Parts: sequence; C-alpha cells; structure tokens
Amino acid sequence: MLTEILTDEQLIKLYTTPGYLVAVDYPKKEVKLHTVDCMLADPISSIGVKPSKARENKTGAFWYSESRDEANSKAEEIAKNKEGYTYTICPICNR
Ligand SMILES: [Zn+2]
Repeated sequence: MLTEILTDEQLIKLYTTPGYLVAVDYPKKEVKLHTVDCMLADPISSIGVKPSKARENKTGAFWYSESRDEANSKAEEIAKNKEGYTYTICPICNR
C-alpha cells in the first residue's frame, strides 16, 4: 500500500521497515526512489530528506511503499505528469 509521508516522524518510524521512498523535489524538478534506510531518505541525517519542512514550505512530497514496483510506478507517474521532471533511482541505495 502506498502511504503519503507528511512528517519527519512518520519517516523515522519506517526506518527499520523494509520499503521504498519516493521523494519529489519541486525546486529541482526531481523524483527519486530510495530504500527507506538510505542516508538520503533519513530525516535525522543532515543530507537526508525533511518531509515536515518540505510540506511546510511546499517544496516537496513523499510516498512510502513496501513494494518496489508500487513505489516505482508512483515515481514514474509523477515524473510523467509533471512538466520537466526527471525520475532517477538513487545511486547510493540502489542495490
Ligand atoms: Zn537513496
């Protein structure tokens, strides 16, 4: 099941759950697929995504799914429907 992630806390709780994060960055026009344990998907890390802040500032959106296929479909759909967006699979956690 696909779940929208609205807060950092929500994502932090998912850290030990196997699954995938779709991270949409509006300013960069980028959609990225991560595993939830990727350091770039970790709100506690200084380089990680920050869903609470992104929502507050309207700079991004995030979805979680246990299924890579489902997360991948969502990411592709967003990239297709938004003008000029690129979809990439994170090179750090793609394994
Ligand atoms: Zn990653």
